[in-house]
Amino acid sequence: MNQADILVYNGTILTMDDQNKIIPDGLLAISGNTIHHIGRGEKGSVSAEKEFDAEGGLILPGLINCHTHAAMTLFRGLADDLPLMDWLNNYIFPVEGKMDDDFVRVGTLLACAEMIMSGTTTFCDMYLFEEEVARAAKEAGMRCLVGEVLYDFPSPNYGRVENGFIYTEALIERWNGDSLINIAVEPHSTFTCGVELLVKANDLALRKGVPLIIHLAETRQELEEIDKRFGKRPAQHLKDLGLLGPHLIADHCVHVSKSEIELIADHKVSVVHDPESNMKLASGIAPVPEMIARGIRVGLGTDGCASNNNLDLFGEMDMAAKLHKAQKLDPTVMDAQTIIRMATIDGARVLGFEELTGSLEVGKRADLIVIDINKPHLIPMYNPYSHIVYAASGHDVIHSIIDGRIVMEDRRLLTLDVEDIIGRSKEKSKKVREWVGVFD
Ligand SMILES: [Zn+2]
Repeated sequence: MNQADILVYNGTILTMDDQNKIIPDGLLAISGNTIHHIGRGEKGSVSAEKEFDAEGGLILPGLINCHTHAAMTLFRGLADDLPLMDWLNNYIFPVEGKMDDDFVRVGTLLACAEMIMSGTTTFCDMYLFEEEVARAAKEAGMRCLVGEVLYDFPSPNYGRVENGFIYTEALIERWNGDSLINIAVEPHSTFTCGVELLVKANDLALRKGVPLIIHLAETRQELEEIDKRFGKRPAQHLKDLGLLGPHLIADHCVHVSKSEIELIADHKVSVVHDPESNMKLASGIAPVPEMIARGIRVGLGTDGCASNNNLDLFGEMDMAAKLHKAQKLDPTVMDAQTIIRMATIDGARVLGFEELTGSLEVGKRADLIVIDINKPHLIPMYNPYSHIVYAASGHDVIHSIIDGRIVMEDRRLLTLDVEDIIGRSKEKSKKVREWVGVFD
């Protein structure tokens, strides 16, 4: 091995492999879209067309945002400090009703720029006009799992839900075999989707062999609503409809009982933890330590920008680590290494991408980031895991490579025109102001 396309050297490599191997003075070589070599070594041993000197920084797998509504970047800060149902029914759903495909396209490009610049290389999206999300991600060069949100009321994209299924199936066909873009079937939640919709969505996901994604047990109101309609708790409701299985990704799972945790574990359902959104909307605290202890795969997500209000997974990692310590009055729960695994390899497992990404190993796709640690707030460094979770932020990510393609170099985006995206986003925000009729 002495020739490669891209070489990253002079950094500490956090592989996040099964042994959590750390390689000091690491050297990582990429050929095409694949990691070709990882080890200790001087750069002289390999030559490459493009070389990155990590300058003693950290080289780690690109972060994986397992739950977002990317285009909601355009609603950032629009309506804060409100109860979830008020926020959804009086602000978010009404403005979403006026959106079109170009709105989602611009919002998603803005999200992709923000995500790459804060170290995310893979994201999972649920929203409207998802064809535009897929295209924007492709343009940005990001890996993703995306799907059109399905619910029982008319969608500004597809109208009646029957058309939503046709739209979803077309997405699956169109993007089949793409190196970066993957499609899921995405019913919104137990309280916005009736039995018929949920069963049909599950059938489609199973028939096409793609993941099924749903918001589950996010709030107490959802518990009350499902109890009123069916006399059951939400996870039990999904089990009785046949939805629980390894193909299901359940976002939030804040209000799950002990027996529901057993159900989720027994059916090998994956869970996504979104601590900042759950805190901001006062939804509650998901029993994540209990779920991890029971062997459930748990990834980390930011949720949409209207309930966070950013897509920086570094902040999410910090919050996830501290929230559970405070709740349990135990500083040993949710240690930094566990948290980084949630944001990398465990996130990849949640999305079904563990063969491709989530750890730095020979043969996997080259999805990685470099963190510049030569900054006052990152000096000295005794423990790289601690630094990433408790001291670093997304702004410290200096280079990013996705699928063997350099997407950010020295904090300059190479796939997207940030100035143009910012200009178009500001234009869209004028529309949002008109729609809600405030701030003027
Ligand atoms: Zn969400």
